[in-house]
Amino acid sequence: MARIELKDWPIPLENGGETVLETMIAHGVPFPYSCASGDCGACKGRVLCGEVAHDSATAGILSATERADGYVLACRCTPKGDLRIEALDELVALPAARRQRGWVVSRQHRQGDVVVLRVKPAKPVHYLAGQFFYLKFDNLPQRAYSVASLPGADELEFHVRLVEGGKTSSYVSRDNLVGSEVTVDGPHGHGYWRQNHGGPIVAIGGGTGLAPVLSIIGAALAANAHRHVHLYYAARVEADVYWEAELAALARQYPNLRVDCALSRAEPSEQGPLPRRYQRVTASLAQDWPSLAGAKLYIAGPPKMVEAVAVTARELGLAARDLHTDPFSDAADHKLDGAFTSGLRRFVGRWRRPPFELAGLATQEG
Ligand SMILES: Cc1cc2nc3c(=O)[nH]c(=O)nc-3n(C[C@H](O)[C@H](O)[C@H](O)COP(=O)(O)OP(=O)(O)OC[C@H]3O[C@@H](n4cnc5c(N)ncnc54)[C@H](O)[C@@H]3O)c2cc1C
Repeated sequence: MARIELKDWPIPLENGGETVLETMIAHGVPFPYSCASGDCGACKGRVLCGEVAHDSATAGILSATERADGYVLACRCTPKGDLRIEALDELVALPAARRQRGWVVSRQHRQGDVVVLRVKPAKPVHYLAGQFFYLKFDNLPQRAYSVASLPGADELEFHVRLVEGGKTSSYVSRDNLVGSEVTVDGPHGHGYWRQNHGGPIVAIGGGTGLAPVLSIIGAALAANAHRHVHLYYAARVEADVYWEAELAALARQYPNLRVDCALSRAEPSEQGPLPRRYQRVTASLAQDWPSLAGAKLYIAGPPKMVEAVAVTARELGLAARDLHTDPFSDAADHKLDGAFTSGLRRFVGRWRRPPFELAGLATQEG
């Protein structure tokens, strides 16, 4: 019998030969994990003292350097004796997902082919800022949408971009949607706001990737109005900027919130109250942040943009534990590009959703 001590967890855990993750789960510890099979890297931790026997199947997720530095996958290792380990992420008990009926209470068409939906679930639902829900209309397949509203709100707000040929997004573009029933399943996802981090927040929302980012920065600023938050609203052209007045109002309310619009395919012109950056968001990030060490970075939106920003952020010194991504796949069920998605998973390394949610390529920005 080995003893596992987990940093920031008050009680030592007994291990009877099972994996470290199995021990965590058996003791009700909210250790981060997803696939539990060595594929996603979500349960990455670091051994502070002691030794583990590590499964060889982790080669694609843990680099040789990480292994040398004591990083392990909790689902693929067993203690060789007493062990002290730390999780790379905060230990947070995620709210349980549940499936229930809801109704569309408002629907607003915005520029950039975006529909802002407000949905009232039959029962109040507890979620963390930045999580997503599956919405299922009529007899259509369910689709994931990130919640833009703050936790505690009665109604859930979603920003849905119309995708050409898309089943659900075309459906919500209909005029007579208010009053329609919708099945709401959630919350899901791990791109949520990390409350315990006190450093600066850098948030990047590409297209409707703004939705979860709004929820995250809204919750963070509500908790501490003076914290330093830099939001990059990434889009291609002016016509895609569908949420400018609200962001400008938020920036007026919070002096330490800076919001920039990064337009990757627009010609410079005097437009709107928010500052424009006529370049890719990665270029703005590199210009503004000589180092991202100590910051938390949240990125949501098109997978290609998320991957590009993640690469830049790591070059700027962002620690792996401070990167939280929410790539939208506009063809999640079509498995369009397995090669790309496995690349992103390997890179991000702390991905906690099944691989199918990474399939597909969106190009709202870039
Ligand atoms: C975690 C997460 C959060 C998300 N949050 C948001 C959000 O907040 N806002 C938002 O707008 N989107 C979000 N998305 C994307 C969203 O879930 C949908 O993928 C998107 O709205 C398109 O759904 P749809 O039913 O309209 O399109 P689909 O019917 O899924 O079609 C999508 C595209 O695939 C094509 N296609 C359809 N069938 C096939 C097929 N068999 N093979 C190949 N291609 C096909 C279509 O022509 C279309 O171009 C999120 C995705 C994820 C994974």
